[in-house]
This record gives sequence, C-alpha cells and structure tokens, in this order.
Amino acid sequence: MKNSEPLRGFTGSRRYTLTVTPPLPQPVMTALAAGRLTHALCLEAPSPALLRDTALALAGALLCRQGGSSMCGECPACRKVLVGEHPDLLLYDPDEEKDIYKKESLRRLRAELYRTPVEAPRKVAILQLAERITAEGQNLLLKIIEEPPEDTFFVFTAQNRYRLLPTVLSRVTCYSLPPAAPEDCRRRMKELVPTASEEELDRALLRCGGSPETGAALMKDPAIQKRYAAAEEMLAGLAMTNSYRVLAAAAPLEKDRAGYTALLETLAELLANPALREIYNLPARTAARCRAEIAPLLQMCERNAHLPLVTALLTERCRR
Ligand SMILES: [Zn+2]
Repeated sequence: MKNSEPLRGFTGSRRYTLTVTPPLPQPVMTALAAGRLTHALCLEAPSPALLRDTALALAGALLCRQGGSSMCGECPACRKVLVGEHPDLLLYDPDEEKDIYKKESLRRLRAELYRTPVEAPRKVAILQLAERITAEGQNLLLKIIEEPPEDTFFVFTAQNRYRLLPTVLSRVTCYSLPPAAPEDCRRRMKELVPTASEEELDRALLRCGGSPETGAALMKDPAIQKRYAAAEEMLAGLAMTNSYRVLAAAAPLEKDRAGYTALLETLAELLANPALREIYNLPARTAARCRAEIAPLLQMCERNAHLPLVTALLTERCRR
C-alpha cells in the first residue's frame, strides 16, 4: 500500500473484519428506511473501536443491495463491506495510517469523491476520529461537505464533536452512540489488562465513559491517571462553581502545553460521562454548555495563549 492511501481492502484481521455489526442509532435507521439520511453525519462516542465498527455498519447499510435500514450481511455488497473490499467505501483511519489526514491525502479524497461510483449507486467516505484533521484540513473539506457530489455520504466519527470546526459541525448531523454495556466494557478491560484487580476495574469503569480502551490506558499508565484525576477535580470545581478548585487542579499542568491540551480534552470527555456527572451533581445541560466552551479554548492553546489565562477563562465562561 502506498503511503496515505485510504484503507479499502483491509484483508488482514488487524485492518478490519467486521465480525459483530453494532446497532445503528434509531434515528439513523428511521432516516435510512425512509431514504432521507443526511449526506453528512457525525457519530460521537468515547470508544474509537465502537465508532469505527458503527461507521462501517452504517456504510454497509448504505451500500447493501437490499436497501433496508441496516446491512443484510448476505448480499455481495455487504460481503465486500464485511471484509473491507468494497470499492465505493473509503475508510480514513489515522490510527492505521498516520499521514492519512495530511493535506495531500485529503485533496486526493476530494478528487476521488468526484469520480462515479464503481459498483454501488453511491459512495461512502468514513473519516474516523475526524477531530484529528487540522483546521486547515477541515476547511479543505468544507466545500465538498456543503455541496457534495451526488450520492456521496460522509460519515465522520469523533470522540468529541466540539473539536470539529463550528463551520463543519453546523453542516453535519451528530448522533451520540450509546456506550458499551458496563459488563461488556468491564470484560473487555479485563482482557486488555489481565492483571487488574476488581477495585482497579471498578475505578476505571466509572471513568472510561464506556470505552474499554480508555479504561485499559487508565489502569496502565500513571501519567494518564494523573491527568484524569486533575480533570475530575476540575469537573468537581465546575459543578460546585468553585473557581479556586478548578484553577488549583489545572495549575500543575500549565507548564506543559501538550499536557494541558490533553487535560482540557479529558475534561471534555468526563463532562460527557453521565455516571460522573451524577456523582458530582452536575446537570447535563450545564455539562454540555461547558463542553462547548472548551473547544475555542483548545484553539487558543494551539495559538500559544498563556495557559493560566485559559483556565481563568474556562471558569469564567462555565459560570455564566
Ligand atoms: Zn446486503
């Protein structure tokens, strides 16, 4: 495979074989059945694996020859989707190919989408973890999302939708995926970290937001534990409108720009976690508002803003 080519034809097990097709969100199925699915949508969930599998299942439904509200799994089109050989399905996954979101390959994607589909009546492009596309890259895609070639569908996935540019976000319909069932998540975490104690599993389960990969990373890596603890302390401070608590929790990480950016992203993740919100008595609407406030602050971090001021702005804006 050439560098920065989308994955089509994941033949090996690592690339993809979709063994379990996760259910699609109900509104997506309804729109599919009615043939009214919007051409650009974004799936949001904490788990990259769940996002990717769901996006593939959605692509399958769009390419399936039965044309129902989910893929049949039996027709030639579905079989090709399942083994990653459908020529009209493009999957961009930055975890598989680190250069896939460079400008050059996004330009190629754009050109590719203007070509006629090979087999199906439509094309589907999956952009996995689209928040990792730079602002410049997102701008490059803006026009094609706005006026897409006929019968082209964009499926963005994101762990945090607010990391997409507001101009992009306003043009896609977002759907949050329900998190994995706690028992499934716990089982998967145990597989990933067989040495974990029951107590460690419980702690990680509460904080991972239904993403077993996140839970495993939390159990294994002390630096990640520290970051999650600081983010949780910030969340507690926001819930109590105690600015001092927020400032004090963020201060140790303000010396390291990358670490601080990761802290804000973790805070956004924890704000989306209903179990934690309940513990700290933070209403869902307040949490959603704080999450939306974090996105512009992250852009300020990228533009070299003074980090203690960013934290001060966060407390100020979340209090309103
Ligand atoms: Zn089918």
